[in-house]
Amino acid sequence: MRSSAVAVENTESGKVELGTNVLKIIPIGGLGEIGKNTLAICYGDDIMLVDAGLAFPNEDMIGVDLVLPDISFLVENQDRIKGLAVTHGHEDHIGGIPFILKEMSIPVIYGPSLAIGLLEGKLKEGGLDSRTVMRKVRPRQKVKIGCFTVQFIRCTHSIADSFSLIINTPVGTLIHTGDFKFDFTPVDGELFDIASLTKAAEEGVLLLMSDSTNTEREGFTPSEKTVWKKINEVFSSAPKRIIVTTFASNVHRIRQVLQAAMKYDRKVSILGRSMLNLASIARELGYMTFPDGLLIPIDQINKLPPNKVVILTTGSQGEPLSALTRIANDEHKQIKIMQGDTVVISATPIPGNERSIANTINALFVRGADVIYGRDAGVHVSGHACREEQKLMINLCKPKFFMPVHGEYRMLVLHSELAQECGVEKDNCFVMDNGDVLELDDERGAVTGRIKSGIILVDSSRAWHINEEIVDERRHLAADGLVAVALTLNGKREIIAGPDVSLKGVIFPRGMAPDEFVSKVQSEVRNILNVKPTVDALAEAELSHFIQGGLEGFFAEKMRSRPLVHVMVHQVSMPSTGNTESRDGGTASRDGSTESAESRFDKNCKIQTRESRLESTETKLESKQTIEPK
Ligand SMILES: [Zn+2]
Ligand SMILES: [Zn+2]
Repeated sequence: MRSSAVAVENTESGKVELGTNVLKIIPIGGLGEIGKNTLAICYGDDIMLVDAGLAFPNEDMIGVDLVLPDISFLVENQDRIKGLAVTHGHEDHIGGIPFILKEMSIPVIYGPSLAIGLLEGKLKEGGLDSRTVMRKVRPRQKVKIGCFTVQFIRCTHSIADSFSLIINTPVGTLIHTGDFKFDFTPVDGELFDIASLTKAAEEGVLLLMSDSTNTEREGFTPSEKTVWKKINEVFSSAPKRIIVTTFASNVHRIRQVLQAAMKYDRKVSILGRSMLNLASIARELGYMTFPDGLLIPIDQINKLPPNKVVILTTGSQGEPLSALTRIANDEHKQIKIMQGDTVVISATPIPGNERSIANTINALFVRGADVIYGRDAGVHVSGHACREEQKLMINLCKPKFFMPVHGEYRMLVLHSELAQECGVEKDNCFVMDNGDVLELDDERGAVTGRIKSGIILVDSSRAWHINEEIVDERRHLAADGLVAVALTLNGKREIIAGPDVSLKGVIFPRGMAPDEFVSKVQSEVRNILNVKPTVDALAEAELSHFIQGGLEGFFAEKMRSRPLVHVMVHQVSMPSTGNTESRDGGTASRDGSTESAESRFDKNCKIQTRESRLESTETKLESKQTIEPK
């Protein structure tokens, strides 16, 4: 499943033979998408994992809060899993761990202090801390995970304490870059450990797995330090309050904003639980230093002169419930935008969020704020390598095989071409999909099979898995509305009550009255049931599906729309009266009840009133929409 695609599709393929002395690299998530990075490396009876992330839903995944990879393969092979190596603390690398631990335990998780610090909180909150052991690692530290030896080497990225991995396997050395850029002037002074990469290259690198996020961008990503110039400029001249929004996890950026606040003698209030949490853990671990009095609670902010205040907030993606969006829409209790406030959007929109962030910026301007935003404003740099840095990585590692990771499909293709430009043989580059199994020995590599792969959708309570059919139904409902049909048939498949037709959110053809349209749908149902002998040959359970299919065809062809069609058929096995008046008689009301049929039905059967039938339709519809507990 590509996060950019509209359809939700899961795939299942043949079993992959484990327990053999063949090295297998299996991406569980993170390929063909940005998000839910999860990779399995298998040899003999050992499996090690690199990262276990989550993704955020597309706009069309209505009501979905989080997206996780299908982890059936891991659950089936949990006895073989020896441990997990975490590269850094971003949600697309650690956010899936609590969900995996709900299903199974992981013997040990190694990772950087900051990521482990963030994870500890998550696991405690979920009561999952007993299901694994977490170990913090230092730069260049080596750990054993089954038959693999993993060395964590410092890399530079938008969150502090990020690592690339050098993984020694019985077949050869693998390098996984994690997320990286080459920042030669990092704000925390922690330089990319290029020496370790070249050392590994001298000994021979079998496979390089490298971050593809910015493959479409030429040149180099500027250093995080370049942002300081603009932040300093804003702080030195802003007449009133300064409101800065960035990704909650961007330790370096938050650190620079706090530094500017100290320099210009402003107090800072942080809004957003995730950002507060990160700031406190990062401070505890020494990735940020600031005096106690710098941060003040939000309710103190109005007691200070506006030019002594900084508000640091989440909401850089225009999230509807975030503080920034509420401030922009004048819905925030404590903070009202004043003429002359400066708002700095220190982030770029993640694809799909452009509209919502644009709306937020519009609203801020309307209220009189000066908004500094956009790629050229100098208030944001990416945390990922551009093409020249990606080339540098390939040149430093000199791998025999290359596998682009962390990117949508087109990015993986471009990155693979880049590797070929840098001298990796075409046949040795593998553009893969989640679930593909890459087998490597020191001579050859090939994609030899697939495991079950796909996605799991999680709703906002984070406790329930959402069936993909439900998301599909929501899409139809949102786009084209609902058509509900209820009818009763006798043993000869003749209509003895109904069809009752109820339309919600369905557009009528121009010039047609609602009643007229309902009648049209009713007669279409009758036409569908007149398809003899097909209808007579159907099993009772297939009838509603048959009518549904016919109506869907009718709407697609005549109305060019695809409403959600729901059909309830009651079949009573009493003999027919032979009277077919109900097919033509009666007056269709808005909900399509047909009185003559109604009264006849009640008189003959005395089993069900129209209300109870409608009620049961609604109940069925409701139960169809209910989120299924996992
Ligand atoms: Zn990432
Ligand atoms: Zn990252």
